[in-house]
Amino acid sequence: MTTPRRALLAHIEFLHESGNLYVEGLGEPELEAIATSGASNRISSRPDRRATPKTKTPRTATTKAETPEPAAPISKAPMPAVNLTFDERAERLAKAARAVDECTKCELCKTRNKTVFGDGGAGARLCFVGEAPGAEEDRTGVPFVGRGGQLLTKMIEAIGFERAEVYICNTIKCRPPQNRDPTPSEKEACRPYLEEQLRTLGAQIIVAVGAHAAGYLTGVQSSLGAMRGKWHEFEGIPVMVTYHPAFLLRSPGFKGKAWEDMQMLAARYNELNPTDRREIWHKASK
Ligand code: SF4
Repeated sequence: MTTPRRALLAHIEFLHESGNLYVEGLGEPELEAIATSGASNRISSRPDRRATPKTKTPRTATTKAETPEPAAPISKAPMPAVNLTFDERAERLAKAARAVDECTKCELCKTRNKTVFGDGGAGARLCFVGEAPGAEEDRTGVPFVGRGGQLLTKMIEAIGFERAEVYICNTIKCRPPQNRDPTPSEKEACRPYLEEQLRTLGAQIIVAVGAHAAGYLTGVQSSLGAMRGKWHEFEGIPVMVTYHPAFLLRSPGFKGKAWEDMQMLAARYNELNPTDRREIWHKASK
């Protein structure tokens, strides 16, 4: 489980990498020095207590299409079955995971090593959805592991959540061979599992990670740059779009924009949860 100290380090590191905190030659020693100095007190690791971010010149110019728009009306009870107890949610998710393990609805069942259902607590209301498992995920059965997964975890921790406090999954649960794009029929075959996950969790906000997930969830066929910075919907649930961590690893200049996305997410989360009740959602999992 992520410690507050580790969350703080991740927060500082991501702020630095995204251009929102500048520390010359930032490395582990410098991070430790910041974390143990009074300077860290000015950086909150909880979205409901965070300091207002300082205005910084972004590393890349913001285009008109990427300018954040006013939030869409908030859906507070987006899907049915949101009044489940924690145990009922855990049970339904486990049942769906077993169904996925045995699923042969599309050709991907023939080439997968492990199904990759999802990762996170049954109390999570914030769901990160990527496109499809990769090689490492297929080997481990866990979504978003490896370097990309570590960066996504860092992004999550940077706004004050532990990875275990959110839910992470993909639009499809089996790896396409050679990481090819899933076909429309494969996506359609797998859609009920994603819907079951989101319905069971009573997802409050979905984060579409990467262009493919964004297009699938929102039905909007556009560039990710044009889709981010505004709210979309999936079955009445607000959807925010951000860059895939694998892309950010290849193009670190976009981390500043990813940080803007995470700030937008934290603001919406605070709006929906004026009193943060995560500790209640998750107490059954401790
Ligand atoms: S990708 Fe989805 S529909 Fe296809 S076999 Fe795997 S679990 Fe079943």
